Amino acid sequence: MKTPSRSAIIAGNWKMHYGPKQASHFAREIVPVLGQLVEHYPHVVSVLCPPAISLTAVREVTQPFPRIELGAQNMFFEEKGAFTGEISPNMVQELCRYVILGHSERRTYFGETDDLVNKKAQAALQHALYPIVCIGERLEQYEAGQTEEVIRFQVQQSLAHFPAHAAREVVVAYEPIWAIGTGKAATADGAGKVISLIRRLFEDRYGNEAATALRILYGGSVTSANISEFVAHPDIDGALVGGASITHDFVEIVHKTIESMQR
Ligand code: PEP
Repeated sequence: MKTPSRSAIIAGNWKMHYGPKQASHFAREIVPVLGQLVEHYPHVVSVLCPPAISLTAVREVTQPFPRIELGAQNMFFEEKGAFTGEISPNMVQELCRYVILGHSERRTYFGETDDLVNKKAQAALQHALYPIVCIGERLEQYEAGQTEEVIRFQVQQSLAHFPAHAAREVVVAYEPIWAIGTGKAATADGAGKVISLIRRLFEDRYGNEAATALRILYGGSVTSANISEFVAHPDIDGALVGGASITHDFVEIVHKTIESMQR
């Protein structure tokens, strides 16, 4: 179901790595090469998601490269107020076009629920931000054969209540939790099956047009050694990359994605 109108996204989640100085230093190393790579390939979008405190520093480096996007790793859904430590959609919007929401680390360590993630995603869409909504099953659920059930529930809860016209702006990251940071990536076939299911569920809710436009990424131990297999799958529209995104391998991942899209 991959259509030429659906661009691939390679998003790098730097997690809690690189404060402003280090982020700026690392960005200066990768951004010029990355910028040259993506300049001529509008079908591949590369998104850097440093810690919020480092966004401004990285933005200074990406500014001359309009095809490199920035994303936040999280945000709250309220516009402003007494919410110590949070950042709001309009604050994110000043610097970024993307925002990762409901990452499994936010769900596991900070108690984020599907309902909260959904509120954040709605707020992102209202502020013209592309929400990258993360869903995925835990190891014990995978081993118990409950993946489909878990995904159905998460899609129902996290990806609900979007206005039909905005649903096509959503990005979903299917990240089996057992594959995150473990070096044990899912197979492209296994991830592809779940991602096809997500697209069907989205179609049931928002119709064919929105489901065809929906970008669905795979996340979990992606490197330059396996990215080509994932993006070759007709339903997989790129990757959310953790560990490898804070190394030079990120550039190679984008490079391999471009090569695959040209085939
Ligand atoms: C992630 O943090 O979203 C992720 C997929 O991490 P890693 O690539 O390190 O598995």
